[in-house]
Amino acid sequence: MINPAELQLLQDALATLANGYDELPAFTPEFDTQAASEVLQIVAERMQDNFPYYHPQYVGQMLKPPHPVARIAYAMSLWVNPNNHALDGGRASSAMEKECIVDLGRMYGWKNPLGHLTGGGTMANLEALWVAGRLHPGKRVIASKQAHYTHSRISDVLGLPFSSVDIGDDGRMDLAAIETLLAAGDVGTVVATIGNTGLGAVDRLPQILELAHRYDARVHADAAYGGYFGLASELHDDTRAAYDHLTEVDSLVVDPHKHGLQPYGCGCVLFRDAGVGRFYKHDSPFTYFSSAELHLGEISLECSRPGASAVALWATQQMFPLEKGGQLAAWLDLGLLAAREFWQRLSVSDHYQPLLQPELDIVVYAVAADNAQQASDRSRRVFSLAAKRDLHLAMIELPVELVRTCLPDLEANAETVTCLRSVLMKPEHKEWLDGIMKILDECAAAI
Ligand SMILES: *Cc1c(COP(=O)(O)O)cnc(C)c1O
Repeated sequence: MINPAELQLLQDALATLANGYDELPAFTPEFDTQAASEVLQIVAERMQDNFPYYHPQYVGQMLKPPHPVARIAYAMSLWVNPNNHALDGGRASSAMEKECIVDLGRMYGWKNPLGHLTGGGTMANLEALWVAGRLHPGKRVIASKQAHYTHSRISDVLGLPFSSVDIGDDGRMDLAAIETLLAAGDVGTVVATIGNTGLGAVDRLPQILELAHRYDARVHADAAYGGYFGLASELHDDTRAAYDHLTEVDSLVVDPHKHGLQPYGCGCVLFRDAGVGRFYKHDSPFTYFSSAELHLGEISLECSRPGASAVALWATQQMFPLEKGGQLAAWLDLGLLAAREFWQRLSVSDHYQPLLQPELDIVVYAVAADNAQQASDRSRRVFSLAAKRDLHLAMIELPVELVRTCLPDLEANAETVTCLRSVLMKPEHKEWLDGIMKILDECAAAI
């Protein structure tokens, strides 16, 4: 689990950091190392009570281990503990954040976006919808039934009306349903989910942009999960088209703490028109804003934010630039290929039935059964049995009609079906598929 090289790298980086302060009178804070050691041993034991997220046999939720360079840069920066609210709190880390934003914006073809890091996708979406509401006061937000639940909650927080849009058999928003809502005349913003959390389906962005423009609505792309896949070369054409049009959306959210190899606490919001920065204006009575240069707190709803997140992201983007054909892209391709192969293997299995063909690296599958209740019960049993064999899956509750598009003989004796869900986001997943299938087959035989 722990590569000793990481600890050496951290020590070396800390030594260089400390060199920057050696002109000061010597001062090393002391603490009770014995007491700390005792507590830390207890903490380490308590932390054993987690699923093994770092391991390829964790194929459940969207959990990708941070790259060591991110982890080390993050840890190292804690000895300074910068705050990216204001330059006075973190000059170096604020500069790194701005450079990260330039690179992230460039990935979407934007030269001069307004943007900053956030605590995660939820805060980032909150800011995007807040700006949307300022530009279209009181107007409706619409998003897919499979959109992240955060959009309806955020709309509620912002006092904006919200409607969810039906999806088709492919898990993407139904275009006719979008148009019906737009035609009612009160829609201000269409949220297109670029890789929905449950199914990994990518909404049809080119057509959504066209519809939204016709009805004078904004388009916000929630690419919290899928935002990096534009770098990949293995996308199918239809999915690729959505990525090629991201440059035209009004705002966009991407979570570096999902596919960007970052520790939690790293989301990002970008606005194509930097002019929306005017909405953030405030007069702080205790102004930290001591220079004319942009302080990130002037364009962000959150105040104190970890500079460490920017330091970690900057280090990662140096090592793995956001470019097609690069290492990051190769890893994303491995995930796409792993998902397709997993889907294929499940489709020839006697025990499992995969649902939608994966657009990204998420595979959803049902356990073969006569009816919906039995399928749900079997999914839960496979989930538990697999965990006992150190294979960790996730579950998803899906409308029975969606499941029946792939399992037409399934008797619909319940509204929803519990299915299994696996996110194959680790580069190693593809090589581990043999072992994963073997355990899945053992579990199916055991129930
Ligand atoms: C994860 C996710 C979110 C929420 O982001 P957090 O970082 O968990 O706050 C929003 N939208 C989508 C599509 C997501 O996958």
